[in-house]
Amino acid sequence: MPAETKLFLCLKDNYGVLLHDPLSGATAAIDAPEAAPVEKALAATGWKLTDILVTHHHADHTAGIAALKAKHHCRVVAPRSEAAKIADVDETVGEGDTVKVGGLSGRVLETPGHTAGHISYFLGADKLAFVGDTLFSVGCGRVIEGTPEMMWQSLLKLRALPDDTRLYCGHEYTAANCRFAVTVEPDNAALRKRADQVTQLIGRGEPTIPTTLAEEKAVNPFLRADVPAVAAGVGLKDASPAQVFAAVRGRKDRF
Ligand code: ZN
Ligand code: FE
Repeated sequence: MPAETKLFLCLKDNYGVLLHDPLSGATAAIDAPEAAPVEKALAATGWKLTDILVTHHHADHTAGIAALKAKHHCRVVAPRSEAAKIADVDETVGEGDTVKVGGLSGRVLETPGHTAGHISYFLGADKLAFVGDTLFSVGCGRVIEGTPEMMWQSLLKLRALPDDTRLYCGHEYTAANCRFAVTVEPDNAALRKRADQVTQLIGRGEPTIPTTLAEEKAVNPFLRADVPAVAAGVGLKDASPAQVFAAVRGRKDRF
């Protein structure tokens, strides 16, 4: 049976997601920005929390862990190199490790750059990826602990997943990301279309995620740093993709 998901907002613009295995009943929260919205989502679905899968150590992804664990006695899985910064970790994981949620199976991808130990979770059978603050729809995370080159390699790793992978990211930043992206690639018709769709979704109070990898490859300037139009958009026609990525990221930081 396919995995089920429940998406909900936390804090101001963070997303929480529940991942549910209907066969075993196991349910994981992907990150825990705060406990109350997770509890509300559990109540709405009737699912029982068995696991928390953490993408990185930032407080807006981990502050709810202690309260959720105290109540549900769930297992907390976290990136190995950041475990010391995260409360109540039971199991640490790194590149290539398998994480089971009941009968569901996720593969750990190390995707550093936003933080040095950031990980993403890819469920191959369900073509689902939980990418935290590495990749956003039409954007990517700020490069805080890593280098632009490191972040570009992480994005290439995610870009190599199947095109029909559904991507769940850590924040609802898509409208602002679209406003920036059109300044880099004003002639990208797919991006214009996505920007219009996002305006409508936000207007109706609906989330803009999950998105798909195919869609992001067409519209996300950070995944397109090796596309000539993006290099030209930041005035770096003959630069390496990593240099183009760094320039796009720098512009977004100042946008
Ligand atoms: Zn973060
Ligand atoms: Fe965040």
